[in-house]
Amino acid sequence: MPAATDRAIDLAEVNRALAEATPEAVLAWTWERFQPDVILTCSFQHDGVVLAHMLRTIAPAVPVVFIDTGFHFPETLAYRDEIHRRFGIDVVALTPIVPREQFAAEHGLDLYARNPDLCCHINKVEPLKRRLPGVRAWINGRRRDQTATRQDIQTVEAFQGGLYKINPLATWTSRDTFYYMERHGIPTHPLFDLGYASIGCAPCTRPVVAGEQERDGRWAGASKVECGLHTFLEPKS
Ligand code: SF4
Repeated sequence: MPAATDRAIDLAEVNRALAEATPEAVLAWTWERFQPDVILTCSFQHDGVVLAHMLRTIAPAVPVVFIDTGFHFPETLAYRDEIHRRFGIDVVALTPIVPREQFAAEHGLDLYARNPDLCCHINKVEPLKRRLPGVRAWINGRRRDQTATRQDIQTVEAFQGGLYKINPLATWTSRDTFYYMERHGIPTHPLFDLGYASIGCAPCTRPVVAGEQERDGRWAGASKVECGLHTFLEPKS
């Protein structure tokens, strides 16, 4: 089926129409509307894994893009491999443009501690930016209840250049994600039971303690609160 790429999208109308839609219905709408120019980014946190699992039957041609920053926990890479073995989910790995040795020589491997925004830009944003030309719909696993910076995300968001960000789990809670995983026999990330409620690069992630929000263990002690991947795009005015 050819993509309906040129019809204008009335964002308010689309979000009203999808307000009560299940994530599966949002994924089906996305594929119908934007195929084949659709990707899912997945860092092998639970929400991304759930979306990759749903896409297996709804739109298996959607690439599952994994940004291999070089700083992931070994447990995350092992979990990625386990999900591949059990569910046949393949990934397209994106790696930083700057080779590791050059990055270390120019910035030091502890750049994350001194300038996490620059570190994220080199190791996450640039690799994704290289993959985005031609993409019209970028599916990701953000939820409103994760943190204050995400409480207003819409199911469909428009950005300059004609890119749409699709947030099928915007209205889900972490509990919804776990119910889905339980129903479908999806294992949890091995660090989850050790208190890691949100898992990114190893140097920038710690377990959360009682009373903290899900993402409080990310960049703890730094002013940075949001992943660089979700701040570099210019919203469409
Ligand atoms: S999360 Fe930390 S280690 Fe990973 S790219 Fe960003 S600053 Fe660097």
